[in-house]
Amino acid sequence: LLVRASNLIKGHRQNQQLKQHQQQLMKLALTDHLTGLYNRHSLYDLGPKYVSNALRHETGLSLLVIDLDHFKKINDTRGHSVGDIVLKEIAEVIQHACRTEDIVARFGGEEFIMLLSNCDLDNAISKAEKLRESIEISKPEGLTVTTSIGVSQLLPGDDFDTLFDRADKAVYEAKETGRNKVVA
Ligand code: GH3
Ligand code: MG
Ligand code: MG
Repeated sequence: LLVRASNLIKGHRQNQQLKQHQQQLMKLALTDHLTGLYNRHSLYDLGPKYVSNALRHETGLSLLVIDLDHFKKINDTRGHSVGDIVLKEIAEVIQHACRTEDIVARFGGEEFIMLLSNCDLDNAISKAEKLRESIEISKPEGLTVTTSIGVSQLLPGDDFDTLFDRADKAVYEAKETGRNKVVA
């Protein structure tokens, strides 16, 4: 009986360890190591689901492409490790700006995506404007960091790619027309 009990306990412990290990692997696969936000892979997994859900239930959905301005200059003048701290702190500002049902992902180096559920274009624009201001006043490492934000709203016939492309074009326009602004 003692041997059986001891084997059961051992087996239970091993199961727990395996579960923990699996959870750690899941976290590594789905999130960005530096910021803890969802990574690009997760965005491409979750984004289309949010889109089909919003189209089916006719609830608003908006997407923000958030690109830090002249970020390369921060790396060049203050070094890559300061750049990393800045990215981490700005990721926190972005994360705080959204609700639990929204998605925030680090899409690339200094580029973030926010997917806003139940949010039409007007609301998304005012959210983006508030976020732009929050980032400007956050002063990570004492630096003023500005952002250009492109906004798009889900329209009938859209899929995730078309929704994304419009916001991407909008952020490009924001860059072309002076940066530190929101374009929808
Ligand atoms: P723009 O206003 O046109 O967006 O200019 P930018 O300098 O932000 O854009 P660009 O695409 O020229 O440069 C992005 C920079 O972001 C270059 C790269 O060194 C930096 N970067 C990307 N990923 C990381 C990272 O993980 N850590 C740090 N420190 N820097 C990164
Ligand atoms: Mg940039
Ligand atoms: Mg960029």
